[in-house]
Amino acid sequence: MIKRKERANAVLTELARLNPQPQTELNFETPWQLLVAVVLSAQSTDKQVNKVTTLLFAKYPTPESMASLTPDELAEEIRNVGLFRTKSKHLVATANALVNEYNGNVPQSLAQLESLPGVGRKTANVVLSTAFDIPALAVDTHVFRVANRLGLAKAKTPEETERQLVKAIPKKLWSKAHHWLILHGRYTCTARKPKCPACPVNSYCLHYHTK
Ligand code: SF4
Repeated sequence: MIKRKERANAVLTELARLNPQPQTELNFETPWQLLVAVVLSAQSTDKQVNKVTTLLFAKYPTPESMASLTPDELAEEIRNVGLFRTKSKHLVATANALVNEYNGNVPQSLAQLESLPGVGRKTANVVLSTAFDIPALAVDTHVFRVANRLGLAKAKTPEETERQLVKAIPKKLWSKAHHWLILHGRYTCTARKPKCPACPVNSYCLHYHTK
């Protein structure tokens, strides 16, 4: 059977051919705004988050400005995304942590990012790779599903999937691989009805050839 590294290489080569410069679909101008957008994106679509952040960032573009809000005030601004009450508490606390501990800057280490309220490993990895160009492979629900269906990983958790993916994929491609697999999961390898016959990487897919 084809080895995981070879399968990853074949899949990513094809996804790269179709979309050489994959980008996040979240709108942001600064690392802080990306961090906010990624926190807001849990249980919401990127489209919905972009609608909310267009107004939010116009009024509160920086950690300092967001730290001036109470969680209830921020909740009013983000009430059109899922889990807005929890997210508003986390974002106000994170804004205050940045102002008080990091001089208003987003830290650039995984451990420091993960210590911020509401910031998990996936969010931290997205910020490292997308805002700072530091190699990291964030595993969200799409990456988890797609990687395991394709046979790029065989894991029960996102963390284990990440560990296997970073072994199978060259470091220089981690950030792009994250975007390729997300976009593939969003538009082709969807959770309920993956579009397997039209999938450009179906010839390499373990799930497709074993079902
Ligand atoms: S063949 Fe189907 S299951 Fe496999 S990656 Fe493509 S869409 Fe997903």
